[in-house]
Amino acid sequence: MRETDVVVIGAGQAGLSSAYYLRHYGIDDYVMLDSADGAGGAWRHRWPSLRLGKVNGIYPLPGFPPVDADADLPASEVVSEYYAAYERHHGLHVIRPVEVTSVEYGPDDRLVVSAGHDRQWAARAVINATGTWTRPFWPYYPGMASFRGRQLHTADFRDVEEFRGRKMIVVGAGSSATGLLLELSEVADVTWITRRRPVFRDEEWTENVGREAVAKVDERVRAGLPPLSVVSVTGLWAPPDVRARLESLPWRRIFHELTPDGVRWRDGSELHVDAILWATGFRAALDHLAPLGLRAPGGGIVMDGTRVAAEPRLHLVGYGPSASTVGANRAGRTAAREIRALLNSGELVAS
Ligand code: FAD
Repeated sequence: MRETDVVVIGAGQAGLSSAYYLRHYGIDDYVMLDSADGAGGAWRHRWPSLRLGKVNGIYPLPGFPPVDADADLPASEVVSEYYAAYERHHGLHVIRPVEVTSVEYGPDDRLVVSAGHDRQWAARAVINATGTWTRPFWPYYPGMASFRGRQLHTADFRDVEEFRGRKMIVVGAGSSATGLLLELSEVADVTWITRRRPVFRDEEWTENVGREAVAKVDERVRAGLPPLSVVSVTGLWAPPDVRARLESLPWRRIFHELTPDGVRWRDGSELHVDAILWATGFRAALDHLAPLGLRAPGGGIVMDGTRVAAEPRLHLVGYGPSASTVGANRAGRTAAREIRALLNSGELVAS
């Protein structure tokens, strides 16, 4: 087992930012592990037709110029190259592919990070930056196994062309759902399904709205509740032309069950479709932390900023209020600063 001051798990925006700030605060003895076989975090896996110009925006990594590329290029390609360039420029060594399978309490006040049975690191602190992409959320509806068409999640989506001329439904009310609806409605006969009628916000998106949404998510995780996405807190935002396109799509409230040919509502009405796309979001990828027994009765982990309230050696970055590129940057800095204080004096500082 190798001893190190800090293990950073995950090398997306949150992990890279954490590694940058660990160095900045004078902590050079750290190890960064990532389960993917190349740079890019979750961006590496996003569908190729998600163009750079269509995403909300990638906040520049600390100590590096912003992404500068053609808006028509796939975001997955551009951001993966951007992260790879960052790793090279700052000499950040990521050990990959290494999938962390558990984090446990170890001897001598250390946390033991394991990747299978043969690779282990004993760390004085751990920064967990594993994102959500590896935990797609599939809700359960009766009859799911009986449907003879194709079911897929956002995480499996690759290309609109696979659906050309098809009849399909998209389930979900977040930004992935709306983005995919816009793309798919160009080639397929698409019905939009959500739990409640989608409500678009009328006012402009401002920094203040963003701050308020982040504060609401922060409040939840401090109370040990599972984080919500920012859209679920703010409602949907879209420029007038995009909103008009979305509002013109056929819409129905969520069905009761799946049938071999499609979906059925409680009133007996049915819709026959070839495919169902579940754009139903993701959950935090934290299964490897289960041995630490951190789950609160509310189903989340009680947080104090980026620090796990019950385990000050463990920080979650890119989790809850910091699940955005800008949030991940700030969380990396906070986590590194608090860990420096922990390692230097055993004392914790307020974030
Ligand atoms: P990730 O990028 O998911 O990185 C986590 C890393 O951890 C991955 O490399 C993964 O391989 C690794 N990992 C996971 N589990 C393990 C394990 N057990 N062991 C080792 N490694 C592991 N945010 C924005 O700010 N702007 C946008 O435009 C935007 N668009 C988005 C579009 C979509 C479709 C989605 C789903 C999200 C979007 N987001 C956007 C949110 C975005 O995901 C975050 O902003 C940010 O990129 C997430 O960074 P991260 O480092 O927290 O996680």
